[in-house]
Amino acid sequence: MERPEDWRRERARGLAQARVVVIKVGSAVLTDAQGLNAAVLDSLAGQLARLAAPGTGLPDGRRLVLVSSGAVAAGRTALAARGRQVETTGLAARQAAAAVGQGRLMQAWDTAFHVHGMPTAQVLLTRDDLRSRQRFLNARNTFAELLQWRVLPIVNENDTVSVSELKFGDNDCLASLLVNLTGADLFVNLTSSPGVLAADPQREPDAPVMEHIDDVAALDLGQLCGGKTSVGTGGMYSKLLAARRAAQIGVPTLILPGRAPDVLSRAFAAGADSGATPIPGTWVRPAGHAIPRRKFWLAYQSEPAGGVTVDAGAAQALLRKGGSLLPGGVRQVEGAFQKGALVRVLHEGRSLGVGLSNYSAADLKKIMGLKRHEVAAILGDAHYPEVIHRDNLLLDAAV
Ligand code: GLU
Repeated sequence: MERPEDWRRERARGLAQARVVVIKVGSAVLTDAQGLNAAVLDSLAGQLARLAAPGTGLPDGRRLVLVSSGAVAAGRTALAARGRQVETTGLAARQAAAAVGQGRLMQAWDTAFHVHGMPTAQVLLTRDDLRSRQRFLNARNTFAELLQWRVLPIVNENDTVSVSELKFGDNDCLASLLVNLTGADLFVNLTSSPGVLAADPQREPDAPVMEHIDDVAALDLGQLCGGKTSVGTGGMYSKLLAARRAAQIGVPTLILPGRAPDVLSRAFAAGADSGATPIPGTWVRPAGHAIPRRKFWLAYQSEPAGGVTVDAGAAQALLRKGGSLLPGGVRQVEGAFQKGALVRVLHEGRSLGVGLSNYSAADLKKIMGLKRHEVAAILGDAHYPEVIHRDNLLLDAAV
């Protein structure tokens, strides 16, 4: 598709005009073998304070939301310093280490921002908090208030109480949900890599950094990143998935090397000179057509609880005609989900998207492949004509 704007100009404009920015920083940027690296935190705090300050064209400055990992790593090293070596591969140990480290992480950030007169707020979230629409709206109001007060929310997953099925999984995912929740217009992901490499570095060690990605939805993430990282957090896979989600609601992502000197300041300063100066990292362009935010919310606030495999006719109706999924098009049902659950829609092993099922897995198994009158004979007249209504379906979901 022909883009109306050159990507460099789009980047320059995106950086110069962003009013609300979600910035995510990973453990590998913030910590090393000794734990939290104070020099890195100080440098980032200084750069963020400058970004928040009023400037040319931005008399109110920028509102920032910082998503910070590092609790588990900080907890682990704090314990090691007291002679207790803990292995944090298991869930309970990670949760306990996060409980030790979160206070330290927050204290370190608060000290670093204090120097710049920036008050901070700790926000710990579980996926469950954003799943219920009411709690989602409560969280949104809290963020709005903090931003209005010019307080910097520093967000992390509430590791100590999140159970594995209800975890965000990683802070890239959490940050992408916050882009939606806070109405941000830019997402910056500070990583330990120089940007997105043009090939899997395991196979091609000299692969160059991609300066921009035009259509993140079209990328083969398996090829590019060697699949999902086995530890479940981090890795370019989850960063690109998060960028793809942001792109769907029209928000660009800048993936930057978090430890490069003054990287944030340099990127935003270069943005101000209409894109002529090279910027490190990768600019991921937003999608041409943004999806409704309600669809984003329904697709990403929880993990799919199961899957429905559809036949070729149904796949065609969903993809080409903007139709709903009817019982007749369902071939197979996986999982033991309840009515109202989020499920994957699959065809020939490929994920077409996700949507809310009007039927439980048990009822769906009784009616799959059947016509409307046959469904009525089994479930009675008061049934839904659609298994997934098109308003509750997100095609091409980044899950
Ligand atoms: N919440 C975890 C921590 O603070 C990090 C999760 C992640 O890095 O994605 O250590």
